[in-house]
Order: sequence, then C-alpha cells, then structure tokens
Amino acid sequence: APAPSAGPIVLMISFDGFRWDYPELHGAPALLALAHDGVRAKSLVPSFPSKTFPNHHTLVTGLRPEHHGIVANTMWDPEWKARFSLADRTAVEDGRWWGGEPIWVTAERRGLVTASSFWPGSEAAIGEGDGVRPTFWGHYDDTVPDEKRVDEVLGWLDLPAEKRPRLITLYFAEPDGGGHAHGPNSPEAGAAVAHVDGMLARLRAGVAARSLENAVDWIVVSDHGMSATDPERTIVLADLVDLSGVAIDDLSVFGLLRPRPGSEDALVRALEGAHPHLHVARKSAMPERLHYRAHRRIPEVVIWADAGWTIYATAAARANALADFARGNHGYAPAERDMHGIFIAA
Ligand code: AMP
Ligand code: ZN
Ligand code: ZN
Repeated sequence: APAPSAGPIVLMISFDGFRWDYPELHGAPALLALAHDGVRAKSLVPSFPSKTFPNHHTLVTGLRPEHHGIVANTMWDPEWKARFSLADRTAVEDGRWWGGEPIWVTAERRGLVTASSFWPGSEAAIGEGDGVRPTFWGHYDDTVPDEKRVDEVLGWLDLPAEKRPRLITLYFAEPDGGGHAHGPNSPEAGAAVAHVDGMLARLRAGVAARSLENAVDWIVVSDHGMSATDPERTIVLADLVDLSGVAIDDLSVFGLLRPRPGSEDALVRALEGAHPHLHVARKSAMPERLHYRAHRRIPEVVIWADAGWTIYATAAARANALADFARGNHGYAPAERDMHGIFIAA
C-alpha cells in the first residue's frame, strides 16, 4: 500500500549507554519532562551482547543479533573469511553485513522520506538489490558536535512538506564515553547525562519554535547500560587455559573464541568452573535466555563474565590496560540490571 504523504514525524533518538536509572541518579530534566508527557518503561532490556552495534540494529529491525547478523562490534564471518569492526569504515558501510530490514528501509520502499544522523547502519545500503539508505545520511564523524547534529535535524524539519523526513533517527555517543572513562556513578558520567539531556531540550525547543509539537512522535532509547569495573575484578584467560590455536574474534566482558576444529569441547571443559565469575558455553549449548546461537558469525565457543568483571587474553594485555583502566563497561548478559537502558516515548 502506498504511504500517506502527510502524517506524524517519528523522531527516534538514542543516547549511547544511558543506563535505566541515570535520570534519578544524575538528573535529566528534559528526559523526565518528556516521560511526563508520555510513557516511560521501567527499563529497556538489551539483547546479548549488550554492545552498541548489535543493539542499535536490534532496535530498528526488531531482530535479535543472532538473526540480524551484527552479533558483536567486532566479529568474524567464516564464510567470507572477513572481519567486521566498528572502526573499519569499509566494513561498517558494507550493507552485506547488516541483515534484517531497518525500519527506514521499509519506510523508503513505501515512498516515505527518512533521515538519519549517525544511527549505526545508516551508512550502509541495506536490503536486496542495491540496498537502501535513508534519503539523508552521513559518514560517521565523531567530531561533529552534538549541537550541530540537533540543528541538522531541525533543518530537516524546515524542509517543504514533500521533502521533510517522516522518520528521523538520531544517535549520540554520550553518556557511553563518560561512563566508560570514569564509571557510571562518576561526576563525569553525570556531566555527560546532563549534556545529552540538554540536546533533547534543544530539540524540543526547536520543534516547539516550529509549532510542530503535535506533529512529532518522540522515542528516546538507549542501547544498553553501564557497570562499574575496576582493576581488582579481572580475568586473564591465559592463566586458566592454553590459548594456542584459539582465535579470539572479540574479547572485553564477553568473548568470541574460535578454537582449532576438534578442540572445542576441550576448551569448554577447561574453562568450565575455572573462574567463579566466568561463564562458558559451546555455541550449540548456549543458554536459551541469551538467544545467541543461530548465526554463523557466532563462533563455536562463547564466554561471558558477571557484571563488573573484565576479561583479558593475557597478563600482558591486562597490564597494558592498567595505565588507563576503563571504570565502566557493558556487554554483559541482559539479566544484569546494570545493562538495562531507557525507553521513553511521547
Ligand atoms: P561500544 O564499544 O559498544 O561502547 O561502542 C560505542 C562507540 O561506538 C562510541 O564511542 C561511538 O563513537 C562508536 N560508534 C557509534 N557509531 C559508529 C559508527 N557508525 N561508526 C564507527 N563507530 C561508531
Ligand atoms: Zn553503546
Ligand atoms: Zn560503550
């Protein structure tokens, strides 16, 4: 069916790493005002792993990572023998990695204009054939000030009705950065929360100035929360098992391990019970609740730590990290309350 040309404008905003309890912990007046005018979920339960790319793609496709294929920020495709990482521009902008159908692709195919300010995946043409991007999009540039991102969105709202986007997705990298560097309870995380809350206030003021309050549907989400981490809670894999012949596709607070074919069960057995805060499973035996089995990019052995714990491959890697130890992290199982994000709509 053709999409109607007039109708509401959906503005979907993500604050990376905005934990469910930050409004009460740090204060977020603009966010609470929006919740007051609409609805606020107690928390948003992320998908496993509670990382940025997997969860942003889940939010716009309705699929868990095991079905949309962005199974981590860093992953290996055994069929293509190719690596994906968030820092690899070519991979990030290659639509073949991104399975499922982002809602902007559905909307564009129905004839709606959509726009994205840096939502993960919006830089790639996704879908069958040549794939589809939002009508308005940009190459990710973390140096673009957040004020400019807001003003770009307001500029889209100033376009004549037939060119004005009906769906806008907007991404902010904070308060994830402040939470990693100083921990979720730190004044710095609080400042990052205040900063993004100010961006929401700026957007709402801009929408009001254009008399568009009644035309805009607001959805504010985050991709995951944040746990406090410290150098005393670390796990060094090489102290527990022999890692020779084990390819490590990703490792932080969870790990994607590819042992030599035939040695998978031995690795799982060696890691089972090896550390009280470390969990391990063969791909085929992953706990149902993690929904992390189906995709070929999930390797044969998956490990994950309890909230607050950080995993390193070697003592040297741990020593390297100590100089500038991240005081907050995420990626843990969705059942960990610290991993919950926000969902507010009005
Ligand atoms: P994480 O490692 O899960 O905490 O990822 C958060 C980081 O992802 C932030 O520091 C962002 O700068 C980065 N990021 C977000 N979107 C993109 C993108 N499109 N391309 C590259 N990096 C991104
Ligand atoms: Zn994130
Ligand atoms: Zn992060």
